[in-house]
Amino acid sequence: MIGKWPQYRVWPATTQPPRLTGKGGAPHVGGLKFAANRRDFEDIMAEPSEKPALKVLLCWPRGFCAGVVRAIESVERALERYGPPVYVRHEIVHNRYVVEGLRAKGAIFVEELSEVPDGGAPVIFSAHGVPKSVPEEAARRNLFALDATCPLVTKVHREAEIHHRRGREIILIGHAGHPEVIGTMGQLPDGSVTLIETLAHAENFQPRDAGKLAYVTQTTLSVHETAAIVERLKLRFPDIVGPHKEDICYATTNRQEAVKRVAPIVDALIVVGAPNSSNSQRLKEMAEHAGCPQAVLVQRAADIDWNEFGSIARLGITAGASAPEVLVEEIIDAFAQRFAISVETVSAAEEGVLFPLPRPLRERQAAE
Ligand code: SF4
Repeated sequence: MIGKWPQYRVWPATTQPPRLTGKGGAPHVGGLKFAANRRDFEDIMAEPSEKPALKVLLCWPRGFCAGVVRAIESVERALERYGPPVYVRHEIVHNRYVVEGLRAKGAIFVEELSEVPDGGAPVIFSAHGVPKSVPEEAARRNLFALDATCPLVTKVHREAEIHHRRGREIILIGHAGHPEVIGTMGQLPDGSVTLIETLAHAENFQPRDAGKLAYVTQTTLSVHETAAIVERLKLRFPDIVGPHKEDICYATTNRQEAVKRVAPIVDALIVVGAPNSSNSQRLKEMAEHAGCPQAVLVQRAADIDWNEFGSIARLGITAGASAPEVLVEEIIDAFAQRFAISVETVSAAEEGVLFPLPRPLRERQAAE
């Protein structure tokens, strides 16, 4: 028997990303223990099982990105340093499990600063970024604000500001209503930024002056859809100025690339993530675009509709940038109850990105 699930059929550790290797020489992905060598693996595979066989292809990279790790650590560190309550404007990242965990430790989630009382408790801005009016209001009210905006979102804010200073009309490629889009548009006066969501929008957009035009993008878009919109804009407005590479971040790009590899060779693919998580939705779309017959977004194992997975032989699993690995394990666990599973990781990239904590938390860390 391997690990806590006798029905697991596991692949040798050599296919696992090094960062997931467990302590004491036994390779793990979360709670899942892997066969030590190919012979163990083959022995396990030879064990009889009454359950139908299911090969699970785990996409790598998946789950937490550097911006999400920084945002969650910001709240945890603020709770440790200053004690509860710590206010957080908007869900720190789009994941209910993460939000509930922080709430249990003393974080209070609000949608607007008006819900934060005066009195010195820290208020943290979420990873998605905020309009300029928010830190301005915090300063006016003398609130202790900590900005957990992902540095890659802040970079887009700065790009937009530079274009505006140079007199360019700005197109933001993104999705209406997403907090990152609200934050980016809110860096500049009303009317400075036009949101373009689709190819049709790009086709119909009429600039004030085609010679003074720039674009920026939301960080969590579909790589291929955004490339098509950018191409259309460049065809229509050859002088348009943009980033050297789209603003879509490394984490979004890598997670989509892994899904692109797995989607065509599985019968179904599960994206672990929240419905309001932009990058998770894009992973589901990518799976469909890459030929997966059935792509499903689920938050927890309890959300799985088992009728959808009755007759599959190969299953892909990934997780959005705000979904913790423990939820991936929970879902593997649920499949292991019903199938004799083997697990293999398909790796599209290695990641070593780390962002420092917001300055006040960093300085305190250094002083200790
Ligand atoms: Fe930052 Fe990208 Fe993660 Fe968003 S998905 S928090 S932009 S690293």
